[in-house]
Amino acid sequence: MTIQITRSDYFMGRDTKYARDLTAAIAVAADVTIDRVNQLLLLMAQDGVPLDVSPATGSLVASGWRPPAVNGATPGAAPRSKHMTGHACDLYDPEGDLDEWCSSHLEELERIGLWLEHPSATKGWCHLQALSPRSGRRVFYP
Ligand SMILES: [Zn+2]
Repeated sequence: MTIQITRSDYFMGRDTKYARDLTAAIAVAADVTIDRVNQLLLLMAQDGVPLDVSPATGSLVASGWRPPAVNGATPGAAPRSKHMTGHACDLYDPEGDLDEWCSSHLEELERIGLWLEHPSATKGWCHLQALSPRSGRRVFYP
């Protein structure tokens, strides 16, 4: 069973295809995001949360880094999405199990340094980010 994500999962081949958009700052941020998400995934796995591989991506990541062209073509994506800076990661969450676990373990998100987009806005995936939203809320609305 896959319980961790890799850089390759996060970049989804876009580090090659959109190499010119991948700055050093984005690469550093992505490493932090990946590490924090993996810490959280480990806790979820220990709690028996079902971690499903997305049929679309072949990994636990539903959407990782988005260069401007990809973000612009993503339905519903925020124009200044944290996915563009390497600070956000969507995990595949078809049944909402990950969102549910996160919502009831906010102290773990706080300890690790992750913020959760409100589950009502992320049906089918779980959006985690390594930067505080403007509101400062651990669970936030976009
Ligand atoms: Zn997202």
